Amino acid sequence: MTLIFSGNDFKYELESVVKLFIPATLFDIHFEVKPEYFSGDFCFIRRKRGKEKTYLYTVCRIDGKSVVRAQSILNSSDNYEGNCEIFLARLLFKCLTALTGKSAKWGILTGIRPVKRVNKMLDSGMSRNAIERELSEIFLCEKSKIDIAYKTALTQKRALENMDGNTFSLYVSIPFCPSRCSYCSFVSQSVESSIRLIPEYVDRLCDEIVYTANIISGKGLKLDTIYFGGGTPTSLEADQLEKIMKTISRHFDLSDLREYTVEAGRADTITIEKLKVIKSCGADRISINPQTMNDSVLKAIDRRHTVKQFTDSYKLAKKIGFESINTDLIAGLPTDTVESFMKTVDAILELSPENVTVHTLSIKRAAYLNRKSDMVIDNPAEQMVDYASKRLMESGYDPYYLYRQKNMLENLENIGWSKPGKESLYNIYIMEENQSIIALGAGASTKLVARDGHLKRIFNYKFPLEYIKHFDIMLEKKNEAKEFIEKNR
Ligand code: SF4
Repeated sequence: MTLIFSGNDFKYELESVVKLFIPATLFDIHFEVKPEYFSGDFCFIRRKRGKEKTYLYTVCRIDGKSVVRAQSILNSSDNYEGNCEIFLARLLFKCLTALTGKSAKWGILTGIRPVKRVNKMLDSGMSRNAIERELSEIFLCEKSKIDIAYKTALTQKRALENMDGNTFSLYVSIPFCPSRCSYCSFVSQSVESSIRLIPEYVDRLCDEIVYTANIISGKGLKLDTIYFGGGTPTSLEADQLEKIMKTISRHFDLSDLREYTVEAGRADTITIEKLKVIKSCGADRISINPQTMNDSVLKAIDRRHTVKQFTDSYKLAKKIGFESINTDLIAGLPTDTVESFMKTVDAILELSPENVTVHTLSIKRAAYLNRKSDMVIDNPAEQMVDYASKRLMESGYDPYYLYRQKNMLENLENIGWSKPGKESLYNIYIMEENQSIIALGAGASTKLVARDGHLKRIFNYKFPLEYIKHFDIMLEKKNEAKEFIEKNR
């Protein structure tokens, strides 16, 4: 497939639209028009500016069949560039729908944060009807997606009611796992291959915590939430977790902290000692993720624990007194069926966790699964996600954050569900980009949000070995956060 752009360079957005219909394809892309580009399948995307009007056209051809769509826009119209991009995306979407017979429920909203757009509309004072009309008529979203995005935005508004503008969150990365699950593309190092790095990693991480606390100190910023993610943070020993958590409480002021999460992740790493340490060091929210409640599916994805291990860990965490427990599920795992996924959802609801996050399988290039030709993924993820949404809503859960990833099965989404009042603030901040998140550890990236909403990102080294080796260079980069915070006070 060849994509030919003329009079515009909206490549990123428009290529994403084509990918909705023709996934997993490398496109041949040109920004000039030559007759030879029109010999096979192509999408020709053209903007031609006249005296008063601009003419927008898309012509698509697949297997010898062509469809053309066109419209015009006044040169003097508000948001001229943005509207040209949106209108061309719509024309392209309509051409490809006509040619392939397929559609996409999120319409031309191809970004990973559709709720962010709804939040902006709500903030600008638009009514529910106006929002629904715009999402449906302009962005071509289907009703089911509009409803879930709108509901999610409302839950977020309620959860963020008391948000203070002078706050920030900390993200702590523990990029180690006991072994690698077959669908995973995280930069996590399995403990088997990198166990020798852990003690030094913990020391450097503590140094980074102290250095960062000094950067933040005296700037009038209050620490709002802390999130330990990975990897699997409970891959570390209890004393290593304690060392990191105590370094944080010694060097940061936790008196305004509203939420402290440790993503334990896999049940095969959880022990009573670790849970006790996590709780006594101040974490009140924990994530224990079965992904499925079917032992044979767990085996198929090389996730080395059983359903019983998950249930035992869950009950232990409850007994120890964690206020909020999240469980992650994945729809569309290899060998899973709709029936088995329904049982998974029902079994999780029996446990009644405060949060349930329903992911749809996304297969990225790095995942081992992607290279296993014998693993056929053939199940209707959409039915699974619909069942989960229905049951969770019936059981009193609200959607509170939602995001999409590339290569998701059936172009679906991940949704975090919560019992009212138990929403994870950190998960909202990371998705909606409305609070600075200072990140620590390998693979982590700091995201600073200015008062006017613009963002600055600072990336730490990706892998633990690089992180340890180039630690001083990385600390230097952290000073950019200091400058940003001072400028945006
Ligand atoms: S536990 Fe999570 S991060 Fe680790 S390999 Fe499995 S899916 Fe990836």
